[in-house]
Amino acid sequence: MTRPEEDVLATAQTRGEAARASHDVVLEVENLTVGFPTDDGLVQAVRGVSYQLRRGEVLGIVGESGSGKSVTSMAVMGLLPGTARVAGSVRFDGRELIGASDAELTRIRGRRIAMIFQDPMTSLNPVYTIGYQIAEAVRAHHDVSKEAALARAAELLEIVRIPNAKARLSNYPHELSGGMRQRVVIAIAMANDPDVIIADEPTTALDVTVQAQILDALDTAREETGAAMVLITHDLGVIAGRADRVLVMYAGKPVESGSADDVFYTPRMPYSLGLLGSLPRLDRPAERLTPIPGAPPSLVNMPPGCPFTPRCPLAREVCDEQEPELAATTSPEHTAACHFSDELVGVEPEQLFRTRVTDTEALAEFVRETADLESSDLESRDNAS
Ligand code: ADP
Ligand code: MG
Repeated sequence: MTRPEEDVLATAQTRGEAARASHDVVLEVENLTVGFPTDDGLVQAVRGVSYQLRRGEVLGIVGESGSGKSVTSMAVMGLLPGTARVAGSVRFDGRELIGASDAELTRIRGRRIAMIFQDPMTSLNPVYTIGYQIAEAVRAHHDVSKEAALARAAELLEIVRIPNAKARLSNYPHELSGGMRQRVVIAIAMANDPDVIIADEPTTALDVTVQAQILDALDTAREETGAAMVLITHDLGVIAGRADRVLVMYAGKPVESGSADDVFYTPRMPYSLGLLGSLPRLDRPAERLTPIPGAPPSLVNMPPGCPFTPRCPLAREVCDEQEPELAATTSPEHTAACHFSDELVGVEPEQLFRTRVTDTEALAEFVRETADLESSDLESRDNAS
Protein backbone atom coordinates (compact mmCIF):
# COMPACT_ATOMS: atom_id res chain seq x y z
CA MET A 1 0.00 0.00 0.00
CA THR A 2 1.50 3.29 -1.05
CA ARG A 3 0.20 6.67 -0.36
CA PRO A 4 1.59 9.98 -1.55
CA GLU A 5 3.77 11.42 1.14
CA GLU A 6 1.99 14.78 1.26
CA ASP A 7 -1.25 12.98 1.99
CA VAL A 8 0.17 11.20 5.01
CA LEU A 9 1.61 14.45 6.27
CA ALA A 10 -1.64 16.25 5.73
CA THR A 11 -3.55 13.59 7.64
CA ALA A 12 -1.08 13.65 10.51
CA GLN A 13 -1.30 17.40 10.66
CA THR A 14 -5.10 17.37 10.68
CA ARG A 15 -5.09 14.73 13.38
CA GLY A 16 -2.62 16.74 15.43
CA GLU A 17 -4.79 19.80 15.18
CA ALA A 18 -7.90 17.89 16.18
CA ALA A 19 -6.05 16.40 19.16
CA ARG A 20 -4.74 19.78 20.21
CA ALA A 21 -8.16 21.32 19.85
CA SER A 22 -9.86 18.71 22.03
CA HIS A 23 -6.95 18.75 24.49
CA ASP A 24 -7.47 22.47 24.85
CA VAL A 25 -10.98 22.00 26.13
CA VAL A 26 -10.95 21.44 29.88
CA LEU A 27 -14.69 21.55 30.53
CA GLU A 28 -17.35 20.63 28.04
CA VAL A 29 -21.06 20.91 28.73
CA GLU A 30 -23.38 19.39 26.18
CA ASN A 31 -27.13 19.76 26.00
CA LEU A 32 -27.49 20.00 29.77
CA THR A 33 -31.07 20.06 31.02
CA VAL A 34 -32.30 20.36 34.59
CA GLY A 35 -35.90 20.11 35.76
CA PHE A 36 -37.36 20.38 39.25
CA PRO A 37 -40.66 18.61 39.86
CA THR A 38 -42.93 20.87 41.95
CA ASP A 39 -46.62 20.92 42.90
CA ASP A 40 -47.25 23.33 40.02
CA GLY A 41 -45.45 21.17 37.48
CA LEU A 42 -41.93 20.72 36.21
CA VAL A 43 -39.72 23.81 36.54
CA GLN A 44 -37.54 23.72 33.45
CA ALA A 45 -34.64 25.59 34.98
CA VAL A 46 -32.05 24.61 32.36
CA ARG A 47 -33.23 23.78 28.86
CA GLY A 48 -30.22 22.68 26.87
CA VAL A 49 -27.00 24.46 27.76
CA SER A 50 -23.84 23.66 25.83
CA TYR A 51 -20.46 25.30 26.14
CA GLN A 52 -16.80 24.54 25.90
CA LEU A 53 -14.25 26.04 28.23
CA ARG A 54 -10.70 26.07 26.92
CA ARG A 55 -7.68 25.98 29.17
CA GLY A 56 -6.81 29.36 30.62
CA GLU A 57 -9.71 31.27 29.08
CA VAL A 58 -12.51 33.21 30.73
CA LEU A 59 -16.06 32.41 29.73
CA GLY A 60 -18.61 34.95 30.90
CA ILE A 61 -22.14 33.68 31.47
CA VAL A 62 -24.63 36.51 31.73
CA GLY A 63 -28.39 36.75 32.15
CA GLU A 64 -31.06 38.13 34.45
CA SER A 65 -31.86 36.54 37.76
CA GLY A 66 -33.68 33.22 37.27
CA SER A 67 -32.21 32.46 33.84
CA GLY A 68 -30.63 29.22 35.06
CA LYS A 69 -27.03 30.31 35.52
CA SER A 70 -26.58 28.94 39.02
CA VAL A 71 -28.51 25.74 38.39
CA THR A 72 -26.26 25.10 35.37
CA SER A 73 -23.14 25.44 37.53
CA MET A 74 -24.56 23.38 40.35
CA ALA A 75 -25.30 20.64 37.82
CA VAL A 76 -21.72 20.84 36.55
CA MET A 77 -20.46 20.43 40.11
CA GLY A 78 -22.96 17.68 40.99
CA LEU A 79 -24.38 19.81 43.78
CA LEU A 80 -28.09 19.77 42.93
CA PRO A 81 -30.63 18.20 45.29
CA GLY A 82 -31.58 14.59 44.57
CA THR A 83 -35.00 15.61 43.27
CA ALA A 84 -33.46 17.47 40.32
CA ARG A 85 -33.78 15.73 36.96
CA VAL A 86 -30.49 16.21 35.20
CA ALA A 87 -29.67 15.06 31.66
CA GLY A 88 -26.97 15.77 29.13
CA SER A 89 -23.24 15.59 29.50
CA VAL A 90 -20.55 17.39 31.50
CA ARG A 91 -17.00 16.32 30.69
CA PHE A 92 -14.15 17.59 32.80
CA ASP A 93 -10.73 16.79 31.41
CA GLY A 94 -12.37 14.06 29.33
CA ARG A 95 -14.24 12.44 32.25
CA GLU A 96 -18.03 12.35 32.36
CA LEU A 97 -19.34 13.93 35.56
CA ILE A 98 -23.08 13.38 35.12
CA GLY A 99 -23.75 10.17 36.98
CA ALA A 100 -20.22 10.02 38.45
CA SER A 101 -19.89 8.65 41.99
CA ASP A 102 -19.91 10.98 44.99
CA ALA A 103 -16.35 9.92 45.74
CA GLU A 104 -15.15 10.99 42.32
CA LEU A 105 -17.08 14.27 42.42
CA THR A 106 -15.65 15.05 45.85
CA ARG A 107 -12.14 14.47 44.49
CA ILE A 108 -12.75 16.92 41.68
CA ARG A 109 -14.68 19.60 43.58
CA GLY A 110 -12.49 22.13 45.28
CA ARG A 111 -9.35 20.43 44.05
CA ARG A 112 -9.64 20.61 40.28
CA ILE A 113 -12.74 22.78 39.95
CA ALA A 114 -13.00 25.54 42.53
CA MET A 115 -16.28 27.32 43.15
CA ILE A 116 -16.71 30.84 44.35
CA PHE A 117 -20.25 31.79 45.35
CA GLN A 118 -22.01 35.09 45.95
CA ASP A 119 -21.96 34.39 49.68
CA PRO A 120 -18.45 33.47 50.85
CA MET A 121 -19.89 31.80 53.96
CA THR A 122 -21.14 29.02 51.67
CA SER A 123 -17.51 28.00 51.30
CA LEU A 124 -16.05 28.92 54.69
CA ASN A 125 -16.44 27.01 57.92
CA PRO A 126 -17.46 29.42 60.71
CA VAL A 127 -15.77 27.40 63.48
CA TYR A 128 -12.23 27.35 62.04
CA THR A 129 -9.79 30.22 61.66
CA ILE A 130 -9.13 31.35 58.12
CA GLY A 131 -5.45 30.44 58.56
CA TYR A 132 -6.43 26.87 59.36
CA GLN A 133 -8.79 26.67 56.40
CA ILE A 134 -6.29 27.96 53.87
CA ALA A 135 -3.48 25.84 55.35
CA GLU A 136 -5.66 22.73 55.04
CA ALA A 137 -6.14 23.45 51.34
CA VAL A 138 -2.36 23.88 50.98
CA ARG A 139 -1.68 20.61 52.81
CA ALA A 140 -4.17 18.74 50.66
CA HIS A 141 -1.81 19.33 47.76
CA HIS A 142 1.64 19.62 49.21
CA ASP A 143 3.34 17.41 51.72
CA VAL A 144 4.45 20.23 54.01
CA SER A 145 4.50 20.91 57.74
CA LYS A 146 1.71 22.84 59.43
CA GLU A 147 4.07 25.78 59.88
CA ALA A 148 5.01 25.84 56.21
CA ALA A 149 1.35 25.57 55.22
CA LEU A 150 0.49 28.52 57.48
CA ALA A 151 3.34 30.53 56.01
CA ARG A 152 1.97 29.80 52.54
CA ALA A 153 -1.52 30.75 53.76
CA ALA A 154 -0.17 34.15 54.83
CA GLU A 155 1.48 34.54 51.43
CA LEU A 156 -1.78 33.75 49.66
CA LEU A 157 -3.62 36.31 51.78
CA GLU A 158 -1.02 38.86 50.79
CA ILE A 159 -1.48 37.96 47.13
CA VAL A 160 -5.21 38.67 47.40
CA ARG A 161 -4.27 41.89 49.23
CA ILE A 162 -5.47 41.30 52.73
CA PRO A 163 -3.66 43.84 54.89
CA ASN A 164 -1.67 42.45 57.85
CA ALA A 165 -2.04 39.00 56.37
CA LYS A 166 -0.05 37.20 59.07
CA ALA A 167 -2.11 38.67 61.89
CA ARG A 168 -5.32 37.80 60.05
CA LEU A 169 -4.57 34.07 60.02
CA SER A 170 -6.02 33.65 63.50
CA ASN A 171 -9.28 35.43 62.61
CA TYR A 172 -12.55 33.58 62.26
CA PRO A 173 -14.67 34.31 59.18
CA HIS A 174 -17.17 36.38 61.17
CA GLU A 175 -14.39 38.77 62.18
CA LEU A 176 -13.87 39.81 58.55
CA SER A 177 -15.88 42.01 56.21
CA GLY A 178 -17.76 40.44 53.28
CA GLY A 179 -15.09 41.58 50.83
CA MET A 180 -12.30 40.14 53.01
CA ARG A 181 -14.16 36.85 53.32
CA GLN A 182 -14.49 36.64 49.55
CA ARG A 183 -10.72 37.21 49.27
CA VAL A 184 -10.16 34.31 51.67
CA VAL A 185 -12.32 32.08 49.45
CA ILE A 186 -10.21 33.15 46.47
CA ALA A 187 -7.01 32.40 48.44
CA ILE A 188 -8.34 28.89 49.17
CA ALA A 189 -9.15 28.43 45.48
CA MET A 190 -5.55 29.38 44.66
CA ALA A 191 -4.16 26.98 47.27
CA ASN A 192 -6.04 24.19 45.52
CA ASP A 193 -4.38 25.10 42.22
CA PRO A 194 -7.52 24.25 40.21
CA ASP A 195 -7.87 23.81 36.45
CA VAL A 196 -11.20 25.58 36.48
CA ILE A 197 -12.65 28.31 38.69
CA ILE A 198 -16.41 28.78 38.55
CA ALA A 199 -17.29 32.14 40.07
CA ASP A 200 -21.05 32.60 40.45
CA GLU A 201 -21.94 36.27 41.06
CA PRO A 202 -18.76 36.66 43.15
CA THR A 203 -19.24 40.41 43.60
CA THR A 204 -23.02 40.79 43.64
CA ALA A 205 -23.33 41.06 47.42
CA LEU A 206 -20.56 43.65 47.72
CA ASP A 207 -20.22 47.43 47.52
CA VAL A 208 -19.20 48.79 44.15
CA THR A 209 -15.73 49.82 45.33
CA VAL A 210 -15.11 46.40 46.86
CA GLN A 211 -16.42 44.70 43.71
CA ALA A 212 -13.54 46.01 41.62
CA GLN A 213 -11.03 44.78 44.19
CA ILE A 214 -12.54 41.31 44.24
CA LEU A 215 -12.45 41.16 40.45
CA ASP A 216 -8.77 42.12 40.65
CA ALA A 217 -8.20 39.31 43.15
CA LEU A 218 -9.92 36.88 40.78
CA ASP A 219 -7.69 38.03 37.93
CA THR A 220 -4.67 37.42 40.17
CA ALA A 221 -5.94 33.95 41.07
CA ARG A 222 -6.22 33.11 37.39
CA GLU A 223 -2.75 34.39 36.63
CA GLU A 224 -1.22 32.47 39.55
CA THR A 225 -2.96 29.17 38.84
CA GLY A 226 -3.43 29.38 35.07
CA ALA A 227 -6.98 28.17 35.66
CA ALA A 228 -9.76 28.68 33.17
CA MET A 229 -12.72 30.55 34.58
CA VAL A 230 -16.47 30.57 34.19
CA LEU A 231 -17.54 34.00 35.41
CA ILE A 232 -21.26 34.15 36.05
CA THR A 233 -23.08 37.44 36.51
CA HIS A 234 -26.27 39.36 35.82
CA ASP A 235 -24.11 42.40 35.13
CA LEU A 236 -22.37 42.68 31.75
CA GLY A 237 -20.06 45.26 33.32
CA VAL A 238 -18.41 42.53 35.38
CA ILE A 239 -17.32 40.54 32.35
CA ALA A 240 -16.51 43.50 30.10
CA GLY A 241 -12.77 43.52 29.47
CA ARG A 242 -12.39 40.25 31.34
CA ALA A 243 -14.19 37.50 29.41
CA ASP A 244 -12.70 36.02 26.25
CA ARG A 245 -16.04 34.56 25.28
CA VAL A 246 -19.59 35.27 26.39
CA LEU A 247 -22.69 33.12 26.74
CA VAL A 248 -25.96 35.00 27.18
CA MET A 249 -28.72 33.04 28.92
CA TYR A 250 -32.45 33.61 28.91
CA ALA A 251 -35.14 31.38 30.40
CA GLY A 252 -32.81 28.43 30.90
CA LYS A 253 -31.16 28.54 27.50
CA PRO A 254 -28.22 30.17 25.78
CA VAL A 255 -29.59 32.78 23.39
CA GLU A 256 -26.28 34.15 22.15
CA SER A 257 -22.71 32.96 22.27
CA GLY A 258 -19.50 34.28 20.83
CA SER A 259 -16.27 36.11 21.46
CA ALA A 260 -16.60 39.04 23.85
CA ASP A 261 -16.13 41.39 20.89
CA ASP A 262 -18.91 39.70 18.94
CA VAL A 263 -21.40 39.93 21.77
CA PHE A 264 -20.45 43.41 22.95
CA TYR A 265 -20.07 45.08 19.56
CA THR A 266 -22.31 43.13 17.20
CA PRO A 267 -25.03 41.48 19.31
CA ARG A 268 -27.53 39.50 17.24
CA MET A 269 -30.21 38.73 19.82
CA PRO A 270 -32.53 41.50 21.06
CA TYR A 271 -32.09 40.37 24.66
CA SER A 272 -28.29 40.80 24.51
CA LEU A 273 -28.81 44.23 22.99
CA GLY A 274 -31.15 45.02 25.86
CA LEU A 275 -28.54 43.97 28.41
CA LEU A 276 -26.02 46.23 26.70
CA GLY A 277 -28.49 49.09 26.88
CA SER A 278 -28.70 48.72 30.64
CA LEU A 279 -24.93 49.02 30.91
CA PRO A 280 -23.50 52.48 31.64
CA ARG A 281 -21.12 53.44 28.85
CA LEU A 282 -18.40 56.02 28.78
CA ASP A 283 -18.61 56.55 25.02
CA ARG A 284 -22.01 58.24 25.23
CA PRO A 285 -22.28 62.00 25.80
CA ALA A 286 -24.86 61.76 28.58
CA GLU A 287 -24.97 58.45 30.30
CA ARG A 288 -28.19 56.85 29.16
CA LEU A 289 -29.61 53.62 30.45
CA THR A 290 -32.29 51.74 28.55
CA PRO A 291 -33.82 49.04 30.71
CA ILE A 292 -35.58 46.08 29.09
CA PRO A 293 -39.29 46.32 29.92
CA GLY A 294 -41.11 43.34 31.39
CA ALA A 295 -39.91 40.29 33.26
CA PRO A 296 -38.67 36.80 32.34
CA PRO A 297 -41.35 34.10 31.86
CA SER A 298 -42.31 31.41 34.32
CA LEU A 299 -40.35 28.23 33.68
CA VAL A 300 -43.34 25.99 34.45
CA ASN A 301 -45.52 24.90 31.51
CA MET A 302 -43.68 27.16 29.10
CA PRO A 303 -45.66 28.01 25.97
CA PRO A 304 -44.11 27.22 22.58
CA GLY A 305 -42.23 29.97 20.82
CA CYS A 306 -39.41 32.26 21.83
CA PRO A 307 -39.59 33.01 25.57
CA PHE A 308 -38.41 36.57 24.94
CA THR A 309 -41.39 37.34 22.66
CA PRO A 310 -43.51 39.27 25.23
CA ARG A 311 -40.63 41.70 25.78
CA CYS A 312 -39.25 41.84 22.27
CA PRO A 313 -39.76 44.83 19.97
CA LEU A 314 -38.94 42.64 16.94
CA ALA A 315 -41.45 39.90 17.77
CA ARG A 316 -43.78 38.68 15.03
CA GLU A 317 -46.13 35.75 14.57
CA VAL A 318 -43.41 33.17 13.99
CA CYS A 319 -41.85 34.08 17.35
CA ASP A 320 -44.98 32.91 19.18
CA GLU A 321 -44.97 29.62 17.33
CA GLN A 322 -41.38 28.55 17.06
CA GLU A 323 -38.51 28.84 19.50
CA PRO A 324 -35.43 29.77 17.47
CA GLU A 325 -32.33 27.57 17.76
CA LEU A 326 -28.85 29.00 18.19
CA ALA A 327 -27.77 29.64 14.61
CA ALA A 328 -24.55 30.79 13.01
CA THR A 329 -24.07 34.49 12.29
CA THR A 330 -21.57 36.00 9.90
CA SER A 331 -18.76 35.75 12.45
CA PRO A 332 -17.13 32.38 13.24
CA GLU A 333 -18.27 30.80 16.53
CA HIS A 334 -20.81 33.58 17.00
CA THR A 335 -24.31 32.16 17.33
CA ALA A 336 -27.65 33.74 18.19
CA ALA A 337 -31.17 32.44 18.76
CA CYS A 338 -33.43 34.93 16.97
CA HIS A 339 -35.59 34.63 13.86
CA PHE A 340 -34.68 38.18 12.96
CA SER A 341 -31.09 38.45 14.09
CA ASP A 342 -30.09 39.97 10.74
CA GLU A 343 -32.24 42.98 11.51
CA LEU A 344 -30.06 43.87 14.48
CA VAL A 345 -27.03 44.79 12.41
CA GLY A 346 -26.00 48.30 13.40
CA VAL A 347 -28.94 48.85 15.74
CA GLU A 348 -28.39 50.61 19.09
CA PRO A 349 -30.24 49.49 22.25
CA GLU A 350 -32.16 52.76 22.56
CA GLN A 351 -33.38 52.43 18.98
CA LEU A 352 -34.76 48.97 19.69
CA PHE A 353 -36.16 49.51 23.17
CA ARG A 354 -37.88 52.85 22.88
CA THR A 355 -38.97 52.73 26.47
CA ARG A 356 -38.29 54.78 29.56
CA VAL A 357 -34.88 56.17 28.81
CA THR A 358 -33.23 57.29 31.98
CA ASP A 359 -31.18 60.35 31.25
CA THR A 360 -28.97 60.49 34.29
CA GLU A 361 -28.15 64.16 33.77
CA ALA A 362 -31.82 65.05 33.90
CA LEU A 363 -32.14 62.81 36.94
CA ALA A 364 -29.23 64.56 38.67
CA GLU A 365 -30.83 67.94 37.87
CA PHE A 366 -34.10 66.72 39.37
CA VAL A 367 -32.33 65.55 42.52
CA ARG A 368 -30.57 68.91 42.85
CA GLU A 369 -33.84 70.79 42.49
CA THR A 370 -35.57 68.56 45.02
CA ALA A 371 -32.69 69.06 47.45
CA ASP A 372 -32.97 72.85 47.01
CA LEU A 373 -36.68 72.70 47.70
CA GLU A 374 -36.14 70.66 50.83
CA SER A 375 -33.47 72.95 52.22
CA SER A 376 -35.58 76.06 51.59
CA ASP A 377 -38.41 74.18 53.28
CA LEU A 378 -36.21 73.60 56.31
CA GLU A 379 -35.15 77.24 56.37
CA SER A 380 -38.73 78.45 56.37
CA ARG A 381 -39.53 76.04 59.19
CA ASP A 382 -36.48 77.23 61.14
CA ASN A 383 -37.61 80.80 60.66
CA ALA A 384 -41.09 79.96 61.83
CA SER A 385 -39.95 78.40 65.11
P1 ADP B 1 -29.90 32.41 38.13
O1 ADP B 1 -28.69 31.86 38.81
O2 ADP B 1 -29.70 32.63 36.68
O3 ADP B 1 -30.43 33.64 38.82
P2 ADP B 1 -31.06 29.92 38.93
O4 ADP B 1 -30.18 29.02 38.16
O5 ADP B 1 -30.76 30.06 40.38
O6 ADP B 1 -31.08 31.34 38.24
O7 ADP B 1 -32.58 29.45 38.82
C1 ADP B 1 -33.19 29.11 37.61
C2 ADP B 1 -34.62 28.72 37.89
O8 ADP B 1 -34.67 27.48 38.59
C3 ADP B 1 -35.37 29.73 38.73
O9 ADP B 1 -36.65 29.90 38.19
C4 ADP B 1 -35.44 29.07 40.08
O10 ADP B 1 -36.59 29.46 40.78
C5 ADP B 1 -35.51 27.60 39.72
N1 ADP B 1 -34.98 26.73 40.77
C6 ADP B 1 -33.72 26.73 41.26
N2 ADP B 1 -33.56 25.77 42.21
C7 ADP B 1 -34.78 25.16 42.33
C8 ADP B 1 -35.28 24.09 43.14
N3 ADP B 1 -34.50 23.46 44.01
N4 ADP B 1 -36.57 23.75 42.97
C9 ADP B 1 -37.38 24.38 42.08
N5 ADP B 1 -36.95 25.38 41.29
C10 ADP B 1 -35.69 25.78 41.40
MG1 MG C 1 -27.63 32.65 40.43
